[in-house]
Amino acid sequence: MLQIHQIPVLKDNFIYLMREPVSGCVAVVDPPMAAPVLDLALRLDWKITHILNTHHHDDHVGGNIDIKNATGCTIVGPAHDFERIPGIDVQVKDGDTYDFGKAQATVFFVPGHTRGHIAYWFKGSAALFSGDTLFSIGCGRLFEGTPQQMWTSLSRLRALPPQTQVYCAHEYTESNLRFAVSVDPNNAALRKREAEVRALRSVGKFSVPSTLGEECAANPFLRADAPELAAAIGMTGRDPVDVFAEVRKRKDSF
Ligand code: ZN
Ligand code: FE
Repeated sequence: MLQIHQIPVLKDNFIYLMREPVSGCVAVVDPPMAAPVLDLALRLDWKITHILNTHHHDDHVGGNIDIKNATGCTIVGPAHDFERIPGIDVQVKDGDTYDFGKAQATVFFVPGHTRGHIAYWFKGSAALFSGDTLFSIGCGRLFEGTPQQMWTSLSRLRALPPQTQVYCAHEYTESNLRFAVSVDPNNAALRKREAEVRALRSVGKFSVPSTLGEECAANPFLRADAPELAAAIGMTGRDPVDVFAEVRKRKDSF
């Protein structure tokens, strides 16, 4: 099983620092900068061997070069966006598996937020690194993709086992919840998550990771094909892509 540390940086980003205990390999997921990562690795006596990037935004790759210069690590990132991933060594694409020590990641190509976004699923550790595609009770903005692309991407992640831990790249859950209850007010799972997150945040705890099962029940962006959500926004019987597009549009201006 992977040992995973969560480092909160900037306003609301998470960097993940994780170790595969058999090999001692250590990976950083989506570092905006180097210092807090190098500091924690030093304190833990972990030697960084890899960076895994989900997409090219600076708050996910800004630390690549400094960490690589300090450690000589291998940088893994999306083949479809290799030009925009600083220092990339290994390009991965949909369906690829990547061996990280004795652990193995399966790569999902999940365009929508950006045209090259990928996610890493570690089946053996029930861990999904979803970047800015799937958040707790939210999803990424459609900067470079269409609603159809994002709905397809989210639908594929949604099909993973419900016990999967969703390690997303931002602590956006409270603001996502405020929006979600506005479009899906009668969803009991959403109300339950709202209460849980309020309790966690009030004592300074993270709301991330959540489980995929919780997200499937409560995240409106995973529920565009749920008749209750369509009904709640006056779109009964409409195509899930249209419902998804409408929910995303409302969130953009919420
Ligand atoms: Zn992003
Ligand atoms: Fe981001």
